[in-house]
Amino acid sequence: MHFSRPSGPNPGHREFSSVEHLSAEAVAGFVDNELPTIAMNRARIHLVHCQECRAEVSEQRRAAERLRRIADEKVEVPSTLMAKLTSIAQSCPEGPDAQEVAHPRGETILAKVEVFYRAVRKNQGK
Ligand SMILES: [Zn+2]
Repeated sequence: MHFSRPSGPNPGHREFSSVEHLSAEAVAGFVDNELPTIAMNRARIHLVHCQECRAEVSEQRRAAERLRRIADEKVEVPSTLMAKLTSIAQSCPEGPDAQEVAHPRGETILAKVEVFYRAVRKNQGK
């Protein structure tokens, strides 16, 4: 595998290795636009050359978009279901359940919405 490189060595190049893949955190941060500017630029440069990490990024993007879609659909949930959701959110059960074990910390609203959305789909399927 070789890339056509511009002629002449780049003095800053030694710091960047094309085999240094983006970490999972970097991919997530890149997708969420949460990396520091320098890291964003590094990631961008790497992505130009690295198909593997590009695939990783697009997978992350798909996951993020799926959550966004679910959040959008939630707006169309009937008010009775919204009331149910509110009561579920307010009745905080004691002790960890399977969902809390899966999201021990950093549980986002979207994660909760996804759990609720699955429950709604299940109910409607009956
Ligand atoms: Zn890579």
